[in-house]
Amino acid sequence: MNEKQTFCEECRNDVAYSLEIVSMKGTLRGDEYNYIGKKATCAKCGTEVYVAQIGDENLKALYDAYRQKNDIISLEKILEIPDKYNIGKRPLSLLLDWGEMTFNRYCEGNMPTKQYSDVLQRIYDDPAFYLSLLDKKRGT
Ligand SMILES: [Zn+2]
Repeated sequence: MNEKQTFCEECRNDVAYSLEIVSMKGTLRGDEYNYIGKKATCAKCGTEVYVAQIGDENLKALYDAYRQKNDIISLEKILEIPDKYNIGKRPLSLLLDWGEMTFNRYCEGNMPTKQYSDVLQRIYDDPAFYLSLLDKKRGT
């Protein structure tokens, strides 16, 4: 039994809802993307209902589609970088001469530009590149 509930505009009440996997379209930065998302419908009347968590998941799926098509590093990889090199998010951001909170925002799901993404991808793939950044920082 599905115990999750959300508000249905039609029923004017909190209702149980069912989920369906559907192909969705979304627009991001002027381009349209197809992605696999979830649609929630009221179990009583069948009207589509809004569920915050599902909305977030769909947004992430849209972002993932965008990342894939534009060759932007995945959120999972971004989150691995600080662990991989045992560095904090702020120190890493400063190491890259970015704003102090820039890397933090990427960890929260914000989309890096292609240029910043390429730097992160290279750090992720290539420890020697990361070490060279550290050396350069020490040298200045
Ligand atoms: Zn309803």
